[in-house]
Amino acid sequence: MIYYDRVSKVYSGGDKTVALEDVSFSVEPGEFVSVVGHSGAGKTTLIKMLLAEDKPTSGAVFFESINIHEVPLGKINALRRKIGTVFQDFRLLPNKTAYENIAFAMEAAGRPEAEIHSDVPHVLELVDLGDKMNNFPHELSGGEQQRVAIARAIVNQPDVVVADEPTGNLDPVNTFEVVQILKKINDLGTTIILTTHNKGVIDSLKKRVITMDRGKVIRDDREGKYIL
Ligand code: ADP
Repeated sequence: MIYYDRVSKVYSGGDKTVALEDVSFSVEPGEFVSVVGHSGAGKTTLIKMLLAEDKPTSGAVFFESINIHEVPLGKINALRRKIGTVFQDFRLLPNKTAYENIAFAMEAAGRPEAEIHSDVPHVLELVDLGDKMNNFPHELSGGEQQRVAIARAIVNQPDVVVADEPTGNLDPVNTFEVVQILKKINDLGTTIILTTHNKGVIDSLKKRVITMDRGKVIRDDREGKYIL
């Protein structure tokens, strides 16, 4: 379970920017939650708090009853491995093939060689890329690269996948495919947190939608639509 408890984030710089203001909500295991809002509404800041990339100014974020920002530095990587991440810009290693990109994530998690040999093809099949295993990122379309990134995000069997604008660089066909794969992963039991600007994606999902505006949660709908 994920729980944001009265989280505020103020960036001190020239002007003080209130990126999050008194945000509270929880996400149950197995949910598919979309977070929508205009640019600057605080979506990425919200995600960064969960990934322990930044600290709230006040309030706390809990992951499986652990206050993320009280986890000692030495244990933060173990915690992060429970949360797979997917980003708009794919973030694949350009000099590694699809297979190697995923194998690398498994090696980093200390998984044995035998598991890597069996799991990488399996997870590439799951994202319909069994035939592109040996392609480098530049030999894949944007949609295919994002599917490799999703395969990498799930290969260590995280409890949660956070996808921050995963379809932002994709055309409608590839957007549809990526969303279908996220749904499939959710059906297999993984919690999904998706941020998006895409009205079509939200309206087709028919899942929970949290709407943010200027750092605040202004709507939280069980079977939401994109309303802004
Ligand atoms: P979104 O992802 O919804 O576009 P962000 O979370 O990126 O919104 O940003 C929320 C607000 O916080 C914006 O006004 C943005 O300019 C500001 N902000 C984000 N990151 C920083 C930072 N590192 N330093 C200062 N201000 C920031």
